[in-house]
Amino acid sequence: MNYNNRNRRPTKTKNTSQSYASQTIKSRHAMEEFPAHANIVICPDDGLVYFKKAWHHRLDDIKHLKEEYKISFERCPVCRMKHEHTYEGELAIMHIPPLYEHDLIRLVQNFGASIFSKDPLDQILRMRRDGNAFYIECSRNQSMLRLAKKISSAFKARHRKQISFSHEPSDVVCSVIDFG
Ligand SMILES: [Zn+2]
Repeated sequence: MNYNNRNRRPTKTKNTSQSYASQTIKSRHAMEEFPAHANIVICPDDGLVYFKKAWHHRLDDIKHLKEEYKISFERCPVCRMKHEHTYEGELAIMHIPPLYEHDLIRLVQNFGASIFSKDPLDQILRMRRDGNAFYIECSRNQSMLRLAKKISSAFKARHRKQISFSHEPSDVVCSVIDFG
């Protein structure tokens, strides 16, 4: 599909938690950007729809569609983050006891579904495992912090530290929960 490719940044490969500072990070302000050249923008990757200054889950959510609306295809802010391997919040969960794994994954999945249902741009972008640690990347740092709190209280884990990169233009936050 032929959609606009400008502003694309080279993708950096992420490795583990020690690389926080060197990761490509992107500001929340990018989330609020919207193309001015079309009435409706459809994300070719996941079908999110931009209309009247807001992103919606699907075209059906838009009432009073008019035939003359100009439609273009462009990646939504969340798919851009996925594509560019950027995020606003990362939660590292270390030394997970094997007994907790299943429930932990379920909690994260349910949380992801819940935030997405309220706001299509509020998503868990990636969840990856590295030994007995999980790394969860979120499109919004506030949601990552809420998830960290939820996990800490559900599993009585120590919420060890929070590392923020709040210098302009980024507002990336990283949190660590350690069961060890
Ligand atoms: Zn998308």
